Order: sequence, then structure tokens, then C-alpha cells
Amino acid sequence: MTIYICTACGTSYPEAPAPPDACPICIDERQYVPASGQSWTTREALAGAHRNAWELHEPGLLSIHTVPVFAINQRAFLLHSRSGNILWDCIALLDPATIELVRGLGGLHAIALSHPHYYTTMQDWADAFDAPVHVHAADRDWVMRPDRAIRFWDGDSLEVLPGATLIRAGGHFPGGTVLHWSDTQDRKGALLAGDIVQVTPGARRVSFMWSYPNLMPLPAEEVERVAARLAPLRYSRIYGAFKGQEVQEEGPAIVARSAAHYVKLLERRVSEA
Ligand SMILES: [Zn+2]
Ligand SMILES: [Zn+2]
Repeated sequence: MTIYICTACGTSYPEAPAPPDACPICIDERQYVPASGQSWTTREALAGAHRNAWELHEPGLLSIHTVPVFAINQRAFLLHSRSGNILWDCIALLDPATIELVRGLGGLHAIALSHPHYYTTMQDWADAFDAPVHVHAADRDWVMRPDRAIRFWDGDSLEVLPGATLIRAGGHFPGGTVLHWSDTQDRKGALLAGDIVQVTPGARRVSFMWSYPNLMPLPAEEVERVAARLAPLRYSRIYGAFKGQEVQEEGPAIVARSAAHYVKLLERRVSEA
């Protein structure tokens, strides 16, 4: 029996003698099945050909990404705070060095996910660190590998640790979640955004899409809803899902301005934008 992992999205599936027929995460229009077709790997094969690299972004905030690139190529973040550690989003590869390093930093108090594209092997991370996994209940049907560590949370916010709160923003997925970290060392706060809020290349704008690979936008009213849910939060920096996606300051103003412009474009009021 083997745990198979989709090579296009990194999602892991329940133990089985053969790979699934298809990956529902990739068949969904918010992801894609590669032109070369569906393919699978295993945790062992992945660990044999890749390793994880670490980056320190600010005191108490590290990111972890896999080299060479695997699947969607997002990064996970380890939020290392006085009251405990949180893993924000997951990547498919959990290698022995990562286990050793996370344990050395005090293990994990909890794991929290922004949306189904990053669920990957969250079950294995939960098992390795004996930590609960917080997944928004609105995306419950996208969990492909049920696990007793997964806790479905409902509503608009969930405080995971003092100064670290999950906010349901919606948008890209109904349960699309961001992590508001108010307890940064400089007290200015940070938003860990997954791709619910997509930091664009200049790091001075953000975007909001229903499907990133297929370039399908969100309705204007949903963009307005996402922006409204984030508006009350105080923070400075925004960390996106991919390397280099770091807004350094004025995060709330950038989100508000980007959302307003996006809505005007969708409503064909570009001359006013
Ligand atoms: Zn997939
Ligand atoms: Zn996504």
C-alpha cells in the first residue's frame, strides 16, 4: 500500500495499491492537468530527488520551499513565537532535515492552511509533530485524504495562538484563509496571504483571482468582500505563497487600492481608475 502524490499539485491520497484514476484538485478549473497528462509520485521518490531549503524573513518567521521545484512550488512558513510555533500552509516534501529542524525549534503547536492547493501532505506534517491541522469547513470537500488531526473550523476568524489569527477571506476558495500575525517583533504586524491575496511581481500591488493558472477573475463583489474582510486588520508586511512575494510596508493601503482598481476594471470604469 502506498501514499500517492499528484506531481502537478502535490496533493496526497489515501494509501492504496495503485494511484487514483485522477486528481480532483487538478481537474477543478482552479488548477490544471498538465498537457502531458496526470502523473504520480510517492513520498519516498520525492524525498530521494528533492530537499527543502529554508529562508529567514524577519525575527520569528522562516519559510520552507522544495528544491528543485516540485508541483505548484509554494512555500510553507514557520511562525516561531514566544507562545508556540505555527506552520502556515504545507508543501508536499517533509524530509528528515525538516523534521529535525522543526523539532529543534520546539515542534508545532498547530498547522493552518490557506486553501486546498496547499493541503499536500498536511496529514504527514500533523503526524510528525503531533499537531492539529486547521482547515476551513467551507473547503471540507477538498480534503482528499481524511485524517483525525484535521479540525474544520467555521466562522470568520480563529485565534490559533495569541497574536496569530486565521481570517476567512474567501475569494479564490470559499474557505480561503489568511493568517494575521499581529505579534511580530516590531509590533507592526504581518499578513500571511497564501494565494488568497496574490502579491504581484513589483511587490507594491496585489491581485485576487478565482483561477490563477487559467487566469479567471473573481466577480467584483467577491473582491470587495475579500477587501472588506481584511480592512479591519492592522499589519505592515504581506507574505505571499511564492518566493519573492513580500510586500515590505503599507500592506493594508496596497490591498485596499489594488482591490478598488480591480473592481473598477471589472465594472468597465477604467477611465475612473
Ligand atoms: Zn493534482
Ligand atoms: Zn490556489
